[in-house]
Amino acid sequence: MNEQVLQNYINGKWVASTTGKFRDVSDPATAEILAKVPISSPAELDEAVQLAHKAFHDWRRVPVTTRIQYMFKLKVLLEANFEDLARSITLEHGKTLDESRGEMRRAIENVEVACGTPTLSMGDVVEDIAPGIDELMIRQPLGVAGIISPFNFPAMIAFWFIPYAVATGNTVVIKPSSRVPITMVKLFRLMEEAGFPAGVVNMVHGGAEIVDAILDHPLIKSVSFIGSTPVAMHVFSRGSAHGKRVSAGGGAKCPVLILPDADIDTTTNIIMDSAFGCSGQRCLAATIAIMIGEADKAFIPAFAEAASKRVTGYGLKPEVQMGPVITPQDKVRIEGLIQQGLDDGAEMLVDGRNAVIPGYEKGNFIRPTILTDIPVNGIIATTEIFGPVLGIMHCKTVEEAIKIVNNSTYGNASSIFTRDGSAARKFRYEANAGNIGINIGIAAPMAFFPFSGWKDSFFGDLHGQGKHAIEFFTQTKVVIERWPKEWSRKF
Ligand code: NAD
Repeated sequence: MNEQVLQNYINGKWVASTTGKFRDVSDPATAEILAKVPISSPAELDEAVQLAHKAFHDWRRVPVTTRIQYMFKLKVLLEANFEDLARSITLEHGKTLDESRGEMRRAIENVEVACGTPTLSMGDVVEDIAPGIDELMIRQPLGVAGIISPFNFPAMIAFWFIPYAVATGNTVVIKPSSRVPITMVKLFRLMEEAGFPAGVVNMVHGGAEIVDAILDHPLIKSVSFIGSTPVAMHVFSRGSAHGKRVSAGGGAKCPVLILPDADIDTTTNIIMDSAFGCSGQRCLAATIAIMIGEADKAFIPAFAEAASKRVTGYGLKPEVQMGPVITPQDKVRIEGLIQQGLDDGAEMLVDGRNAVIPGYEKGNFIRPTILTDIPVNGIIATTEIFGPVLGIMHCKTVEEAIKIVNNSTYGNASSIFTRDGSAARKFRYEANAGNIGINIGIAAPMAFFPFSGWKDSFFGDLHGQGKHAIEFFTQTKVVIERWPKEWSRKF
């Protein structure tokens, strides 16, 4: 087998890591080794940061109208390579090809929005704050931006940050997830083809040691992180302690409220996609369905039927609706949590454990699983499972259900399904979560809105995407000017 050995991208060049330490990148559906990713050293990170810092001097002086031309070029290249990139996501992550196409579309959307940086990064001016004195606010880039991404979106999540950082005049060093680094290598080849000057975009592969080196490096001025809550907390506290601007998205547990008047077919389809899309490995996945009043009578049988019919298998096959989970260890972990849920007193409605997919016996497959009567404080209701597991609980009223949403330590997203506008408005107003869906199962903000997140799902002030990202990657400078007439020579 001719395994690809991945390289770092530093100062416009592909560079082999010098550590000699590698990790296998495997196809989660076949266990085939696709590549070897280097576990680089802090010294390699330091080299990338030094060169990115050097490149920052010139890059921030490039007019913004010129900087966005690279974004336009990148957009064209991403479209031309769309299918190859989507296939690469499916191979290393396992999600279906359609899900990978959706991910690429969302990544490209962020490049499109960053093309508006001249307008998005405008400052403010007020003339005559006092007689003959004007005050203005301008936005300037911070310097080198560190970006750390998770495994569940090999392309999209880094693009919540990279286009905005670069278009506003920062330079970037990214550490992709070592579980899914191949697509990011392909994306960097396209950034190279787009012609970004040397040092503007850099990539160093590795693990926790590189993350800590990013958090400690004095020349890195901002850190954008997405991953699990414990690591997000670590990144936020250690990065902040070093005086950096930090935006750190964490884990999630997203409850959906189902009222008895919700449309059965639409709601069932949407919730199945939300709970089991990407095998539940999505921070916006609906993982708890709260049945209100009599809703369970119609919805529990509908969910059971739809989940049992969902086709699980190899993501490149067109008929497949759900792929594997990322590693064999995750499969064991998720099946263990399901057992703990049963031990807590939940009932099994649809059991997806011990799945064997003919032809893919080595894959990390779990079929859709639904547990009912999950206790409010039990493991299924409180732990981020990050697998295809939906827990169902019951409430008498919307108020009671909102309390459950608000008692969660997480606050990434929550949705309601109903035809009742008043109930929907109450939920929108009172639910403590950063992304709200009303008859929408995956309330993923478009690139021109912030990817919000509250409580333990986010640490920081400004989120990824859109205007938040522009603000995050720039610092404001306020200038107060006086130009007395009597100082002028007469022309
Ligand atoms: P993870 O926290 O294990 O890893 C994220 C990144 O941190 C990776 O690049 C990894 O190499 C690095 N890392 C891992 N452990 C580390 C440590 N101890 N110290 C320093 N760095 C470390 O997350 P993951 O498993 O790759 O991704 C899944 C998680 O991401 C889930 O919890 C999911 O909810 C979350 N997520 C959140 C959002 C959001 O917007 N809030 C979006 C997508 C995913």
